[in-house]
Amino acid sequence: MDLQRKLEILSSAAKYDVSCSSSGSDRKNKKGGIGNASISGICHSFTPDGRCVSLLKILMSNVCIYDCSYCVSRRSNDFPRATFTPDEICDITINFYKRNYIEGLFLSSAIVKNANFTMEKLYETVYKLRSEHNFNGYIHLKAIPGADQDLINKTGLLVDRMSINIELPSSESLKLLAPEKDKNKILLPMKHINNGIIENKSNRKSFKNAPKFVPGGQSTQLIVGASPESDLKILTLSESLYKKMNLKRVYYSAFVPVTNDKRLPDIKNPPTLREHRLYQADWLLRFYGFNAKELLNEENPNFDINFDPKTNWALQNIHLFPMEINKAPREMLLRIPGIGGKSVQRILSIRRVSSISFEDLKKIGVVLKRAQYFITCNGRYYGDVSFDEPLIRNRLTPKEDLNILENQGEQLNFFDRPGFSLSPAILKADDIFSSVIGEL
Ligand code: SF4
Repeated sequence: MDLQRKLEILSSAAKYDVSCSSSGSDRKNKKGGIGNASISGICHSFTPDGRCVSLLKILMSNVCIYDCSYCVSRRSNDFPRATFTPDEICDITINFYKRNYIEGLFLSSAIVKNANFTMEKLYETVYKLRSEHNFNGYIHLKAIPGADQDLINKTGLLVDRMSINIELPSSESLKLLAPEKDKNKILLPMKHINNGIIENKSNRKSFKNAPKFVPGGQSTQLIVGASPESDLKILTLSESLYKKMNLKRVYYSAFVPVTNDKRLPDIKNPPTLREHRLYQADWLLRFYGFNAKELLNEENPNFDINFDPKTNWALQNIHLFPMEINKAPREMLLRIPGIGGKSVQRILSIRRVSSISFEDLKKIGVVLKRAQYFITCNGRYYGDVSFDEPLIRNRLTPKEDLNILENQGEQLNFFDRPGFSLSPAILKADDIFSSVIGEL
């Protein structure tokens, strides 16, 4: 099979993995080397449905010994198969880099023969890239669950970011949909990588020239909608991964029905609105001081997809509002719908020297169409309906029920709708972008 055909097959097979944005690594180029990775991240690219992808995103192989029901590469799927050799991946990466097509590599693989064999080949590839080709660009590598720790450790010294996909949010779903996988074989290497990162940081304080171990941190991916777990369950898992494993990112991937399997839900379209709400909630966990159990509870375990999660929380806690912009502490300002982290910083700076008027808020970047219902400025409420939860809820409810559109397969789309407004007009650009930039 020629290289072009392999590339078609193996880049197409990699497109279902969304956990590939890059950041947090500042690998510098060295004399005679090729490329570097900047701390602000490289090669971010967005697919039409808003997912972040790197420009060379490939599988080493899609010949898998496993048969996970939701996966296009499962062994029972009648599908074109291919495997790159380490040298082929190096050649493509270097050629693409020299032509400015890419700035980094996102490399994953199906499990060929066994976990160690696959991990060994992945290691060999990045070793050759770094040592034979002097490639100093960004590399994000998917580690193979079940591979030996020393293999993962030596690979971690060569790559910028590593991730291990959890995919299914509970052991029950793992048993049902991917029975050959083992929860412990997924979590154990994540723990090792986390310990390695902590140890490496401490070593580098004493020995500045010690090689970096996974400097961009680790991430994972959870599939949303292939199994029955609620948003609460998914978000609680993410929260625990951030706290216990210091993960940089948890990515959410709306389940795409690519195989026929009776164990999978019968849906026509991926639940992308649900995925979008989870991304927004994820930002609230990481940057806004929320925890999962504040946003959702056993009575309401799933987000109302008609509202962003912060608005949803504010409506459920209306007794805390309206909040006085000139007095509320930072942690409460962050909880006002329509006021993002940057706006909070500006409000706090201005407040040190003068009081803030309602007119000032727009200049500061506050999204007044949401914030107006939850604030007062110098004691005055500016909402266009009285301060009353049902009235405010009604004003903020989109004209069309997003639950219906989600079921019909209406998807969030960045690019093919003029002015970024969904037609029929539902979500505005700031709402769509909030799951990417985190301003809520
Ligand atoms: S192990 Fe990975 S590549 Fe193989 S079938 Fe399962 S999800 Fe797909």
